[in-house]
Amino acid sequence: MTVRKASYRSLRSLQADTARCRACVEAGFPLESLPVRAPLAGQRAYLFGQAPGIVEGEERRPWRGRAGQALRRWLELDEDAFYTSFYCASVTRCYPGRAASGRGDRTPTPREQELCEFWRDWELELLRPTLIVTVGGLALRRMLGLAHLTAAVGERYERDGAVVVPLPHPSGASGWLNLPANRARLEVAAALVRDELRRVPTRRSASSSAS
Ligand code: SF4
Repeated sequence: MTVRKASYRSLRSLQADTARCRACVEAGFPLESLPVRAPLAGQRAYLFGQAPGIVEGEERRPWRGRAGQALRRWLELDEDAFYTSFYCASVTRCYPGRAASGRGDRTPTPREQELCEFWRDWELELLRPTLIVTVGGLALRRMLGLAHLTAAVGERYERDGAVVVPLPHPSGASGWLNLPANRARLEVAAALVRDELRRVPTRRSASSSAS
């Protein structure tokens, strides 16, 4: 059963409750996995995607499939560096299943997005990231309220003291990268993320404030 405390004092406690959340199922939505969790490693950068895919849902770890490989390639990070740099979260945390059209995965409904925002808001409160990277149009909308991905990729924003850099979604189902102009936007955005990552506090200094 879903447990949501009135307040949280540690990420560990927050993650324990996130990991057993069934709020969307209790509201009648057909989820196909339990929540995907980010291993804690003292991260101070926050990666915010749309929703886990089928591989992530099975492993219950974020960015394990082909989209994750593409994302790491864009950012020039191996797995270790990726997972110790980024606390990986998403608009919703459970695999939503295939889209009715058969193309790609189902986009979480606005109600599911709202239900899951509780976890995001507490993560941001406890983690206080210095860098937030949104991945895809839905994550951009939920984080910054911006509706136009193309105009945002290559730009740098701020939210509550954190730098926010939007990226497109690396899913093979997205045709956004087929346009050469968009690939150029991605190069600018990925370079911005790499540059900002160099400014993020080190793992050791972050660990003491994140536990
Ligand atoms: S998507 Fe989010 S709110 Fe919905 S059941 Fe999963 S963890 Fe809970």
